[in-house]
Amino acid sequence: MNSKIQFCKKCVMPNTRPGISFDESGVCEACNNYVKKKLVDWNKRYEELESLCSKYRGINGDGYDCAVAVSGGKDSTMQVYVIKELLGMNPLLISVDNWSWTETGLKNKANISEAFGCDILNFSLNKKVGKKMLLKGLEKLGSPTWYVDAAIYSVPVKLCMQMGIQLLVYGENVNYEYGGSQKQETYSAKEIFSNDVVKPIDWSEWLEDGITMRDLYSIKQPTLDEMEEKGLEPIYLSYFIEWDTHHNYEVAKRLGFRHMEHEWIREGTIENYNQIDSPAYLINQWFKYPKFGHSSTTEMASRYIRSGRMERVEAIKLVLERDHKLDQKVLDDYCEFVGITIKEFWQIADQWYNRELFEQDKLGVWHQKFKLK
Ligand SMILES: [Zn+2]
Repeated sequence: MNSKIQFCKKCVMPNTRPGISFDESGVCEACNNYVKKKLVDWNKRYEELESLCSKYRGINGDGYDCAVAVSGGKDSTMQVYVIKELLGMNPLLISVDNWSWTETGLKNKANISEAFGCDILNFSLNKKVGKKMLLKGLEKLGSPTWYVDAAIYSVPVKLCMQMGIQLLVYGENVNYEYGGSQKQETYSAKEIFSNDVVKPIDWSEWLEDGITMRDLYSIKQPTLDEMEEKGLEPIYLSYFIEWDTHHNYEVAKRLGFRHMEHEWIREGTIENYNQIDSPAYLINQWFKYPKFGHSSTTEMASRYIRSGRMERVEAIKLVLERDHKLDQKVLDDYCEFVGITIKEFWQIADQWYNRELFEQDKLGVWHQKFKLK
């Protein structure tokens, strides 16, 4: 048995999650931050958001007051509801397109535009370069969706800077909410590029197969100075509004958001409403499993425990049963887009298994050396 891995005493998150820290009683920072959030005066925070919006409302005349970075998801639905309907802003919604969409995802995205009456700017990434870059992300970083993640962060910022939009609204601060290297509770999303989602790379090593820096313009992040020069203020809505995954879902459902279960029941998860826009994208969640020993079920069960929706003993059972499973449709969709076979995928994935956490048998199957308890 592996002795190095340690699980939070309250939730089921292990200390292998990048950047997470545990206190002396063995509780993770995401659980501690959840408790801290209960002490926040959310009415006061909402007033802060109102005054921030007042600063930008009408700043461009009849033009856009702000932008909201959206997908078709439940969080996006809630964000637009708050910004447009509750706070009376005129936002431009900026969305980075997936290459494949689920039917549910398309319906949800159309709903956001129709339910709230907003323009959506869809940014479609270069498909030729994207195929190569996704494969490079998988091979070089063990991050199969790195290219798309980089675009999701950089494209809205760049477009705002070019269009004279100064307020840019993101959803949650993932590091603060769920654990990660950025420990600070802040409304400013200026440092979003240095959270743990999009790892910095040495660009020169990626310029092969005819890819040039011009091809990668869309994912190259602006510097803090460049953002400041344009007066850009990126913010996290999760600082101003109490952020809770399942509650956000319930809010979104009342506004026309659809869950996935009538289209597809996914393996390896315990919910039907997160990251449902594109089948392939979920490969990113699963790929944490070989690297860190935890995946979507661990993440969601931990959130449910924190919010009192699940007991730890039930979470353990679900994690053991599901966390390791890579959904077949997710894998098919990813491999088809990138242009590799399933066999080739596993040959690459093999290189990313953490040998301290897993061992491979003679016929290639991986086995956990640790056990959640
Ligand atoms: Zn915890």
